[in-house]
Amino acid sequence: MTKPMGAVPAEFGADGSMLLIGGTRADELVRRAGETPLFVYDLGMVDARIDRFRAAFAEVELHYAIKANSYAPLLKHIGSRVDGLDVASAGEMELALASGTPAERISFAGPGKRDSELAAAIAAGVTINCESEGEAERALTIGRQARVRPKLAVRVNPDFEIKGSGMRMGGGAKPFGVDAERVPNLVRRIIDAGADWRGFHIFAGSQALDADSLIEAQRATLELAAALAEDIGAVPPLVNLGGGFGIPYFHGEQPLDVERVGEALGQALKGRHHLLAKSEFAIELGRWLVGEAGVYLTRIVDRKVSHGKTFLVTDGGMHHQLAASGNFGQVIRRNYPAAIASRMSEAPCEEVSIVGCLCTPLDRLADDILAPHADVGDVVAVFLAGAYGLSASPQAFLGHQPAGEITVGGAD
Ligand SMILES: *Cc1c(COP(=O)(O)O)cnc(C)c1O
Repeated sequence: MTKPMGAVPAEFGADGSMLLIGGTRADELVRRAGETPLFVYDLGMVDARIDRFRAAFAEVELHYAIKANSYAPLLKHIGSRVDGLDVASAGEMELALASGTPAERISFAGPGKRDSELAAAIAAGVTINCESEGEAERALTIGRQARVRPKLAVRVNPDFEIKGSGMRMGGGAKPFGVDAERVPNLVRRIIDAGADWRGFHIFAGSQALDADSLIEAQRATLELAAALAEDIGAVPPLVNLGGGFGIPYFHGEQPLDVERVGEALGQALKGRHHLLAKSEFAIELGRWLVGEAGVYLTRIVDRKVSHGKTFLVTDGGMHHQLAASGNFGQVIRRNYPAAIASRMSEAPCEEVSIVGCLCTPLDRLADDILAPHADVGDVVAVFLAGAYGLSASPQAFLGHQPAGEITVGGAD
């Protein structure tokens, strides 16, 4: 039975039979990089996303969550166009600083920060989003010892989550953030200890495609921030409203109506509580900014038939693009959009499975899809590879060669 694929993002075209990425032929990009497997990131598409956000969310800061993709040239490009970078480890903090983004525009979230990581953030002047009372105490102690006033925000574990979001990060018992009812005491403690309290970080979920769910979550987030500020009796300098903007990976999924979310948030901000009148607001996004801008290119090295099923075996696989193999948070494997990059003008005529070169049945890039006839030497494109691709894949597994990365497009 043929299985459907997600839709190829509309930005991708073809020059005759060859896929175009950012206006450049895929075979030319492979030639530039030297080899497959290869990730290509179209900076023009990223820029268009940033512009679209700016138009829809006039008064809201845009932050980039760099764990989605921290490839240095991409990070440098994005860092100079957004208002802040959100990092989740000292390693990511180093990458963010090396990209040229000043420390005051970097915030550091994530559970399990070690003392050495807290010390590095405090010394650099990066804001720490405290995930627990214990972590906040350690940060205060480290700041005192270093004679540096730490910048501390509090990550709130809200009592709600984005309905229908792909990955739930708030609501109920969670390792992330401080339960909302305990936040006022912690903030008072941070202020009394003389630290620079930077505000709240409230992240309620990821991969939401439904505008109404996001609108509801953002309203609830604003209300929660207002209630906390009232209890504390202080104005939060920044309220990070989280993000959660999703992208359509699979057959039948519809893109998020970002303009509608922006419109509703604009309304909600107009009527916000007086204690939030002087606060800044931020939205932090990962996949929505970069996910669709990335393509994974891998070459067919074998074509074989087993029990009547045709397999196209590639030089890449789940060690580079775990998410497309279905092993990164999917319960039932579904196909990402894929194409034979060198046969874009040819009609689909056979059912094939595209697999990677790893010796495990988990290594599937596309299952039972309808594709044009492809041979050894043809290049396969797997789309939606710009976020949680290489950085979220087990590259060392089985010791194959690493994937290359390259950017294309984007005005400087
Ligand atoms: C991972 C993460 C993000 C980015 O999520 P996307 O779904 O890629 O937009 C943003 N904020 C926090 C706190 C995260 O952990």
